[in-house]
Amino acid sequence: MNATLFDGCRIHLNQQGKFEHYVGGELKGKGSECPNCSRPLVIYLSLDLTDERIKFPDSRVKRLPLVYCVDCELCCFDFVYRVDADGLSVLEALKTKDRQGIGITSSIRKKRIKVDLSATPLELERLAAKLNAKCDLTKEEKAMFAKLINNFARPELGGYPIVDCYNQVGGRAFLMQRLEDPMCEYCPKSRMRFLASLYNERCSGIKTVPEEMQIVYFACPTCAAILVQHSAS
Ligand SMILES: [Zn+2]
Ligand SMILES: [Zn+2]
Repeated sequence: MNATLFDGCRIHLNQQGKFEHYVGGELKGKGSECPNCSRPLVIYLSLDLTDERIKFPDSRVKRLPLVYCVDCELCCFDFVYRVDADGLSVLEALKTKDRQGIGITSSIRKKRIKVDLSATPLELERLAAKLNAKCDLTKEEKAMFAKLINNFARPELGGYPIVDCYNQVGGRAFLMQRLEDPMCEYCPKSRMRFLASLYNERCSGIKTVPEEMQIVYFACPTCAAILVQHSAS
């Protein structure tokens, strides 16, 4: 299994927990504009780091915004940033000054959804690791996977189990394109680790990312750089 930043937590939308985690809205302050199209970056997940389950490599950071822009071509390339005390520093991004969209817009730009976290079941981590290693799941494992992420076809379609992506922070979730942990471009020999994966889960009925898109965040355990990529099915 891959090394992890901290133990995995599943993300539950529209649920209030002990901590102030949320999804949605526009980033404010230093570095809050998309370096490509200048629109405010969208907050795909904002993590309250007083929650000790989330062990981010830079302990000075008190709130961790996981941001992205799908309203322009920024998301077609790697986007890397760091969170500072007063905002965000962009390390790598497409900069064409092209405001052209790519035909999708963020549905959560203007609305904020509260979020609760719960420990990812170890069995789900095990099955995700198997999928990420490009191994097939047995029939029983597929049924277990679907049960753990509550993902079944509608009863009129047979109610069969569906193996699909889901929302998670920490640990290592099932990644649609089996992405490997990338090397950090800013620290020699430091490999980034999975930080979060965001996807529209069927059971929640809430769309926070573009259809069929999985947004994946990695973080460097040494310099705390955050790399954002997306996969589309
Ligand atoms: Zn943009
Ligand atoms: Zn680094």
